[in-house]
Amino acid sequence: MSYNPAPNILKDCIILITGAGDGIGRAVSIACARHGATVILLGRTTTKLEAVFDEIIDSGFPEPGIVPMDLATAGLEEISALAEVIDSRYGLLDGLLHNASILGERVPFDHYGIDQWQQVMQVNLNAVFLLTRILLPLLQRSDDSRLLFTSSGVGTTPRAYWGAYSVSKYATEGLAKLLADELANTSSVRVNIINPGATRTAMRAEAYPAEDPTTLKTPEDLLPLYLYLLGPDSQLDHGKTFTSDWLD
Ligand code: NDP
Repeated sequence: MSYNPAPNILKDCIILITGAGDGIGRAVSIACARHGATVILLGRTTTKLEAVFDEIIDSGFPEPGIVPMDLATAGLEEISALAEVIDSRYGLLDGLLHNASILGERVPFDHYGIDQWQQVMQVNLNAVFLLTRILLPLLQRSDDSRLLFTSSGVGTTPRAYWGAYSVSKYATEGLAKLLADELANTSSVRVNIINPGATRTAMRAEAYPAEDPTTLKTPEDLLPLYLYLLGPDSQLDHGKTFTSDWLD
């Protein structure tokens, strides 16, 4: 589908994006700002978030917020404090994109590190639950908000050796579908899943070190789909999974 978002399609929207300092999250953050959103940039490496902040400001887009947060360790207190800051500064959220993830190791199951398993599940699933649980009331204050979860091909078809990453994406899909069902008739929050597919980022290079990255689509190639799913044009979409095929 060919989709050309209107220049100001996200004007005055407040959108929180996790993993905003690099890869897909970085590109989507800048694109949302370009289309008028105030983006709250959440990530674990402050220098990367600052670089995205500078790029947005230098381009003359709305001033973003920066939230340095390590989702491997962030707990109820830290995330509740974030919710309070968003509440006092913006009053609501129009979008939440769960994008940050880690790959973990790809080894036979009986070699999978116990700590590694817990860390991947913490970042990719438990932090997603906690952020959603604490920030949902702010999303519900918006007349038309978006809650977007990020999955992967290994979140619907298991792949040998992918361990906790694959299981965390299955669980992410489950969480998204459960919430979509729960919120369908009781809320204006639209819940969907995106599987970006093979994309030229650091994570992909870690997973497939021998691959020629120039054969892959870039995060920028995905932007129409992300802008659609985070903006008002996806108002009728709920409980669905989108892949980059949508762009064909
Ligand atoms: P990248 O590894 O390029 O970027 C991930 C981002 O998440 C980085 O900014 C990283 O921060 C941040 N992050 C990682 N761990 C934490 C943490 N503990 N706390 C806060 N932030 C953290 O990944 P991609 O852009 O490739 O992936 C984005 C999403 O798309 C992921 O959910 C991934 O599973 C999914 N996906 C990607 C595919 C691909 O081919 N690229 C294919 C299918 C799904 P920092 O930069 O500081 O490390």
